[in-house]
Amino acid sequence: MMKICPLCGSKAVGQIAVDRYYCWDCLVEYDKNNRIHEVLEDGSLNTFEVPEPYL
Ligand SMILES: [Zn+2]
Repeated sequence: MMKICPLCGSKAVGQIAVDRYYCWDCLVEYDKNNRIHEVLEDGSLNTFEVPEPYL
C-alpha cells in the first residue's frame, strides 16, 4: 500500500522503516501516525504532529 505525504499529499515517498516514510518533496520523515520527523540542519530530529486540517 502506497502512503501519501500527510504534509503535502505527494506520492513521492519512500519507506525507510516498518512504520517510517520519507517525503522527497518536503524532505521530512513521518510515521504511520502522521507524526512528522523533520531533519534539522544539525542532523537532529524535530518531531511534531500534523495539524488537524491536513489529516
Ligand atoms: Zn511531503
